[in-house]
Amino acid sequence: MARYETHCVTCGEGLTGRQVRTCSPRCRKAAQRPAPKLRTCRLCSQPFKPSGPGRRSVCPYDDADEWCQNLQDQAEDAEAARLAALEAATCACGCGVRLTYAGRGRPPRFASPACKTRTYRAAS
Ligand SMILES: [Zn+2]
Ligand SMILES: [Zn+2]
Ligand SMILES: [Zn+2]
Repeated sequence: MARYETHCVTCGEGLTGRQVRTCSPRCRKAAQRPAPKLRTCRLCSQPFKPSGPGRRSVCPYDDADEWCQNLQDQAEDAEAARLAALEAATCACGCGVRLTYAGRGRPPRFASPACKTRTYRAAS
């Protein structure tokens, strides 16, 4: 006996009338496509289904285990901190001069008062 789906196998939409497995030609096409190869999460080493464009190397956040989500949060924080450090590392005027940050108070943005003046003049 043939088994009839009650919901679209692709999007989970309820099926009506003569729809058998999928709710639309688009979903039918998607259902025929071979399932995407599983990838291994860089953080939790679990296989996951890559979704959408781009080359993900970690589980989609919404599908991830709680601890993988934590790892992703940490990775994001680390990345943000890295970017912030990089940003603070050179003069904001674009002259490329490296800034030294004592680690106290606000990190400097400019290598010299002249750089600051130049930037503000360029902006106005
Ligand atoms: Zn569908
Ligand atoms: Zn993961
Ligand atoms: Zn500068």
